[in-house]
Amino acid sequence: MIQLYQPLNFMGMVYREIKQAIIDIEKMFNVLSRNPEIKDVEGAAPLVVSAGNVRFEDVRFAYDPERPILKGLSFEVPAGKTVAIVGPSGAGKSTISRLLFRLYDVSNGKILIDGQDIRNVTQASLRASIGMVPQDTVLFNDTIRYNIRYGRWDAGDAEVEEAAQLAQIDSFIRNSPKGYETQVGERGLKLSGGEKQRVAIARTVLKAPPILVLDEATSALDSHTEHEIQEALERVSRGRTSLVIAHRLSTIIGADEIIVLDQGRIAERGTHVRLLAAGGLYASMWNRQREAEAAREKLAQIDDGN
Ligand code: ATP
Repeated sequence: MIQLYQPLNFMGMVYREIKQAIIDIEKMFNVLSRNPEIKDVEGAAPLVVSAGNVRFEDVRFAYDPERPILKGLSFEVPAGKTVAIVGPSGAGKSTISRLLFRLYDVSNGKILIDGQDIRNVTQASLRASIGMVPQDTVLFNDTIRYNIRYGRWDAGDAEVEEAAQLAQIDSFIRNSPKGYETQVGERGLKLSGGEKQRVAIARTVLKAPPILVLDEATSALDSHTEHEIQEALERVSRGRTSLVIAHRLSTIIGADEIIVLDQGRIAERGTHVRLLAAGGLYASMWNRQREAEAAREKLAQIDDGN
């Protein structure tokens, strides 16, 4: 009986491993899921990033032709600068990052990187030049080291750890049961939204792309985590062209330009100080967030008092 049990047990183990591997591959395909309509044009050349200037020229876009989402957007992210996109939920902010990554093609207008229309370059070269820190980072059922190395497979252990330090996740990892060898994912350590986002930042540090797109998580983070993430981002975006899709205005105060999107159009643009002084949509969003934060802090104080 035991003789029979052992191979069965072993087969069970193999089966579980294979199943896990399939789940990982599925996840990876989800991450890489491509819109089949997006194809490289014949003879597409690789993107050549010289300075890293990003331009949207009269970009229009609709997922469904009946419902336009972006209605003629023009803006520029000058090389090495940070531009933030803010606006009410559903305004089309994340759509902008998907278009830059060419998960969809624009319906009208164009997106240029250093003067090259992104529809004319190979998708592989475009995506290799853009570091994407998405809202929801997919983690693999593997060690935390593997999950960070995903940013660049040939990175050495020391480089992985340096990237984690820059992303402010190193001490969290060192305090985990097996340090960098700790398993994460369904069977291992579960990471919070903020921790996952820092893993994504560490991956981006390893990838070291000339252009960075950060799609900030919508979920509210506690102010300590938010501060850590913001610091990590400031470090990685230094000297890189950065487009930040922001949900919390406090994270983009220092942006070179803030674009306020409303119903698919640019409603206002300028620096934080100028927009506040203008007393428009941005100023009212800012005041509302401030009030919400104050209310949250008050509630936390009451909770602490009990
Ligand atoms: P939030 O702040 O809530 O993240 P957002 O400004 O980033 O919102 P988008 O995610 O760009 O908004 O979505 C803009 C609009 O497009 C929304 O009304 C959304 O429902 C719609 N939309 C988004 N993705 C798709 C899709 N794949 N197919 C059809 N409609 C979509």
